[in-house]
Amino acid sequence: MSSFLAHKQYVETCVICESLKPKGIHLYTSFICTECENDLIQTDTNDPKYKHFLKQLRKITNPEIFS
Ligand SMILES: [Zn+2]
Repeated sequence: MSSFLAHKQYVETCVICESLKPKGIHLYTSFICTECENDLIQTDTNDPKYKHFLKQLRKITNPEIFS
């Protein structure tokens, strides 16, 4: 039991891929894993995948901007 606790990994849920990842960055109160961060940087804004990222990221930011 004690060895299990000693090996406890610090993981957080990534808002993009919704998986538990040990490494990443914090954006506001949310967590983005390193893989998704790199993916996001490399994805062209015209790529449909980019829209998916934005959709996921929209969950993070509060809808304070009124269009
Ligand atoms: Zn991720």
